[in-house]
Amino acid sequence: MPRLESTTRMQALMAEAFRECDAAAWDPGRRVAWCSSVGPVELLRALGFAIFFPENHAAMLGASRAATDLIPAASAEGYSPDVCSYMTSDIGAFRRGVTALSRVDPSITAVPRPDVLVYDTNQCRDVLDWFSFYGRQWGAPVIGVSAPRGVGEVTGDLVASVAAQIRGLVQPLESIAGRRLDAGRLREAVAVSRDTSILWRRVLSTGEARPSPLTFFDACVHMGPAVVLRGDPRSAAYYEGLLAELEGRVARGEAAVAGERVRLYWEGMPIWGRLRDVSDLLARLGACVAGSTYCSSWVFDALDPDAPFDSMARAALELFITRTDAVKERILAAEARRYSVHGIVFHDAKTCPNNSNCRYGMPGRLAAGPGVPSVVVHSDLNDLRLHADEGVRLALEAFVEQCAEASP
Ligand code: SF4
Repeated sequence: MPRLESTTRMQALMAEAFRECDAAAWDPGRRVAWCSSVGPVELLRALGFAIFFPENHAAMLGASRAATDLIPAASAEGYSPDVCSYMTSDIGAFRRGVTALSRVDPSITAVPRPDVLVYDTNQCRDVLDWFSFYGRQWGAPVIGVSAPRGVGEVTGDLVASVAAQIRGLVQPLESIAGRRLDAGRLREAVAVSRDTSILWRRVLSTGEARPSPLTFFDACVHMGPAVVLRGDPRSAAYYEGLLAELEGRVARGEAAVAGERVRLYWEGMPIWGRLRDVSDLLARLGACVAGSTYCSSWVFDALDPDAPFDSMARAALELFITRTDAVKERILAAEARRYSVHGIVFHDAKTCPNNSNCRYGMPGRLAAGPGVPSVVVHSDLNDLRLHADEGVRLALEAFVEQCAEASP
């Protein structure tokens, strides 16, 4: 299948966003906020910050295969090679004076210096350690939300508690931004995020079609605007175009994987440095990864412009990564049905226990309960020293054949 025509537009949009952020960092009249990927972006947009997402930067280091060589620079400073390789490759890049942004635009020579770093620990503690490194480097405040993890039911009390923490960020952010929060602008930012989320969900849902018009690997690339431009109207406009292209493929019966014979679901982080290789391997086997928990993590059903703080809190609490195993199993069983998959590929990412859900018996419970088979691949998001091509290839080949044989 030829690459999606929208790809060129997406790359131009991402480059534009990176240039704007770089320009803001050099402009004494602008303020730059770093934000964790599912932090309170809408609040930052409403206050006029240029926003930089270190996790996106780290993924770019991984995808360009630069990450592995950068990690030792962070290890030399005491960051264990066992902790988040997004964090260690990003810190390593900083120590070596390089940035993945230069590959997009050579005129960008450094990550934008932050005036404030805003985190949400709903995903892990590593983001706080990561942001604290930069806070110390630049003497910038590090503020955020300490959210609960292992969330079962998202109760009103939990929502109120997290919403109060987000409200507590307003005053310090106002003083850094040099302006008061405008309720209308916050409402608008939440509305745009919600619209983007709805469109992104519809993009991902095209994967339910048989054959699927896109794969998890395509979605990993095209999720860029949902991450970097959340709350910015350009992201919604981009996904309208992408959705139209994918719906055209579905209408014409065009498959992302020629001769699709096995359908899979990806659980966990991408292997950024081998994204193309794993995609090509599965395509050769006639296997399409039609859906994933990772790309669905930027679908925020709860966002409501009429209740911005409560709905931002609820959206953060409902995230897959924050939930108990019991809730995750229910979600995975439902996703397996929704995408009509033969099985699940669990990625055991060695440096991200937070997003590796295969370590406490979940694959066995999904097989014994809802009857969803799975395979575990052992690798990492960014550290290719923890990846073995042969091991991943053999595991996936065997699993695809097992799924094909089990097909009616
Ligand atoms: S969730 Fe995993 S990959 Fe993301 S910042 Fe935390 S440890 Fe790193």
